[in-house]
Amino acid sequence: MPPNSFRCTRCGHCCTNLEVASLPCDEEDYQRWVRQERWDILEWVNVIRVGGRIVLLDMWMDPRTGDNPGDCPWVSWNPADGAFSCRIHDSKPKVCQDYPVSEKHARETGCRGFDR
Ligand code: SF4
Ligand code: SF4
Repeated sequence: MPPNSFRCTRCGHCCTNLEVASLPCDEEDYQRWVRQERWDILEWVNVIRVGGRIVLLDMWMDPRTGDNPGDCPWVSWNPADGAFSCRIHDSKPKVCQDYPVSEKHARETGCRGFDR
């Protein structure tokens, strides 16, 4: 969880600059999506197995090109309230739930959630 003083402004910066962010996928997220049969989410997760064992999970890799698309496939702009939102909010990955982990982390990665 981010610190208590954090307030997300829904600016969308963290969801639209994935080329500068490392988004490793937690295996718990991966297994949850499998249980939920979220194949729409899972097709954007790159899975590397060695001998049947998962050794690497990467989000969000375009299933058609294999590239990181820059914008997360689940971010959406809402003209009604002039802000971005996450279309998989209820099942979003741990790395997104925990972002930013500190004020320093926010400032280093362009998040304005501590600016008031
Ligand atoms: S999954 Fe949701 S919170 Fe995470 S980067 Fe994508 S749009 Fe943003
Ligand atoms: S960059 Fe920070 S303030 Fe902007 S949407 Fe992401 S978490 Fe919220």
